[in-house]
Amino acid sequence: MELLDWMARGGHERVLAVQDSESGLSGWIALHNTRRGPAYGGIRMWRYRNEAEAALDALRLSQSMTYKCVLAGIAGGGAKTVIFADRIKNRPLAMEKLGGFIEGLGGVYRCGPDVGFVESDRLALQKGTTHYACHSQELRPAGEATAEGVEYGMRAALDFLDGNSELKGKKVAIQGLGSVGLPLAKRLLDNDCEVFGCDLNANVVNAAEGLGVKIVEPAKVFEVESDIFAPCAMGGVLHDLNLQRLRSRIVAGAANNVLPSPEQADQLRERGVLYVPDFVLNSGALIEGAGFEQTGRKNYETELRRIGATVSAVFQRADAASCSTHDAATGMARDILVQENQIIEQESPLKEFAQE
Ligand code: NAD
Repeated sequence: MELLDWMARGGHERVLAVQDSESGLSGWIALHNTRRGPAYGGIRMWRYRNEAEAALDALRLSQSMTYKCVLAGIAGGGAKTVIFADRIKNRPLAMEKLGGFIEGLGGVYRCGPDVGFVESDRLALQKGTTHYACHSQELRPAGEATAEGVEYGMRAALDFLDGNSELKGKKVAIQGLGSVGLPLAKRLLDNDCEVFGCDLNANVVNAAEGLGVKIVEPAKVFEVESDIFAPCAMGGVLHDLNLQRLRSRIVAGAANNVLPSPEQADQLRERGVLYVPDFVLNSGALIEGAGFEQTGRKNYETELRRIGATVSAVFQRADAASCSTHDAATGMARDILVQENQIIEQESPLKEFAQE
């Protein structure tokens, strides 16, 4: 593993290895950018195969988080914590120790939840740190804010293809009906869409069915003939195999890093599928959470609607440059960073990461 080389290519500032033998805590905290303001990024608990895989995940996710902040107009940068979930011996203690490491960073890193991080983890973590920047109790649930932003991005995609952002009558297939997927389904049903959905959790499936979602088998969700496929579960799902099975003309969902590598964005383009890059689309909760933290304001409808305008700008740039929407979106974010004198290298390091 050439960690320093990867960091240099990705423009990362700092990577901290965290280890505590007593609790079994081990993982990485990657700080991509702390120059634009606090670095925001969730804590991911995952069964990584090896240290390189975990480090790479932290580097890619923290870089995406900087791009997300830049395109969402947030005064902040990106970070990410990844923890080896299966090495933990005492989970509450491990979280408290992790909190101590985050506290030691002095507030440059504002952490939050991510995949595998549950409420009991938060309570234990907060014994060690005050720098937990999760969505405030004074705001609506984070997933609802994210779902609203996703709707605006979907409308922008429909407008780009059809010259009309109307959702009525459109078919949408949602993978994952959790914190984002369920409120998204509700919004779409309220707009007279035909909504298909799947989840691995029976309770969630029942709740969605009660709302009017047409339930499909998780393995079949890619094959639903639909206008929009909305991945709202895990990342990496649009690998080559699933991509071949896709029967939608638009991909627009909340899941982070839904493409295993930027190559799939090129493949989607070649297949005539309009891909809305996740980090442009799923910033609703970040906009509300960071905005509230920085200003105390509670309503962000104008900023959330701007997600749609940013998505449109990404499509136009991709069209003009004959490149994938992923490359267009990273290019837009990097242009802004260059204007801010933040980075000067022009190659997309994400592409290089993906080839490791
Ligand atoms: P969640 O854990 O609440 O919901 C995810 C759901 O997906 C769960 O119900 C789970 O059972 C289901 N699922 C997992 N694998 C599945 C599969 N193969 N097929 C069908 N269902 C599957 O998570 P969430 O908060 O809704 O987040 C969803 C995605 O959006 C994640 O990738 C997350 O990183 C991303 N995201 C979430 C937010 C937010 O505000 N919550 C913000 C930005 C990005």
